[in-house]
Amino acid sequence: MPALRFRDILGQDEAIDFLQRVAAGGRYGNAYLLHGPGGVGKGSAAIAFARAMMCERGAGGALDVQPSLFGAPEPAPAVAPAATTPGDACDECAACHKSRDLQHPDLKFLFPLTGEEKELDTVYRETVDAWREDPFFTFVYEKAASIRLSTTRELLRELAFRPFEARHRVVVVRDADRMREDQYSAMLKSIEEPGASTVWVLTTSRPTRLPATIRSRCQRVRFRALHEDVIDAYLRERVGVADDASRLLAALSSGSLGRALQGRDTDPRLAAGEIFDLLGRARAGDPAALWGQVQRMMNFGRTGRDKLRRYLEYLILWQRDLLRWRYEGEAAQLVHVGRRADIARAAAAVDPTEIRRRLMLLEECLRSIDGNVAADASIFSALSRLANPALSRTGWPRHPAARWVY
Ligand SMILES: [Zn+2]
Repeated sequence: MPALRFRDILGQDEAIDFLQRVAAGGRYGNAYLLHGPGGVGKGSAAIAFARAMMCERGAGGALDVQPSLFGAPEPAPAVAPAATTPGDACDECAACHKSRDLQHPDLKFLFPLTGEEKELDTVYRETVDAWREDPFFTFVYEKAASIRLSTTRELLRELAFRPFEARHRVVVVRDADRMREDQYSAMLKSIEEPGASTVWVLTTSRPTRLPATIRSRCQRVRFRALHEDVIDAYLRERVGVADDASRLLAALSSGSLGRALQGRDTDPRLAAGEIFDLLGRARAGDPAALWGQVQRMMNFGRTGRDKLRRYLEYLILWQRDLLRWRYEGEAAQLVHVGRRADIARAAAAVDPTEIRRRLMLLEECLRSIDGNVAADASIFSALSRLANPALSRTGWPRHPAARWVY
């Protein structure tokens, strides 16, 4: 469980500030939509928000406050008010204990699942267990994963009853864009119900895929890509990643802590060996061998493609470091902190125009891969041109296997 309280969520001050004020105010809308890039804290914020709303010491949690006959309610909550930040979970009351274990009877989750219908319960339970126990858990789905109809149905049946313990039931829906039309209609009915005791907290990184009817009935809260420094510090201080690896992971993460966490088990410095090996082949002027190696990587399907993509990103960071070194010298803040000497040596051997040429062709290659151009061909072409500046200027060398030789 990466973060459970607002104060643990990094780099999203504006969004957190808003949610915290809502929780502190105690008057909740029927639905909130937390949207923004993947892996930046929307899911954690949704849980923190839910917990804050359910906290017995918070504005929305005090169950036993009854208005007296003479107007002003008698504020006599069972627990003393917390010394903690208003609007955040106190983490000490009974409700907070239950919600921390993801076992509050009024806190419900929906998230995408894959698998056989009869195994869904098990998959669901195992996911929640892993989520609770792994402090750096990130949700990773198969492409076809969806929020399943059977789990939604079961939940909707429960919504017909009053909450068990809290004043409000909170339903957190992760990746709410992965639902079917009929699920949205059922959800909409619940959202629109006047005086409902259910608060829906939806998260998505693809808000445009949600029906406009849902979007328009939610209060929207925007999350942003995280700054590299925030991710770097988190990886070093909380996860215990070594300095130079963490700098690199942060730079490769595109502002997504989730992405950096997923990559933490594979040391990005190891990838460096493979990518420079590929480049070596390109430089050796043996296109057939280079093509063969790229093909072997592609045999792993999507994994191979992702790997090639990471290699490209790695090379881009490398070239950016060269550029920084050319312009700033010793003062340069490098991504490859552990390889200053190599960067200095490589930078001395190349001029800034050439570095910019390399960056342009690497970025172009990344774009074509994302645009679904055959990844193998575009990587092959990029590496060949990267290794041989002359190729960009004069065209292709003779290749024994090329048809146009005949
Ligand atoms: Zn509490």
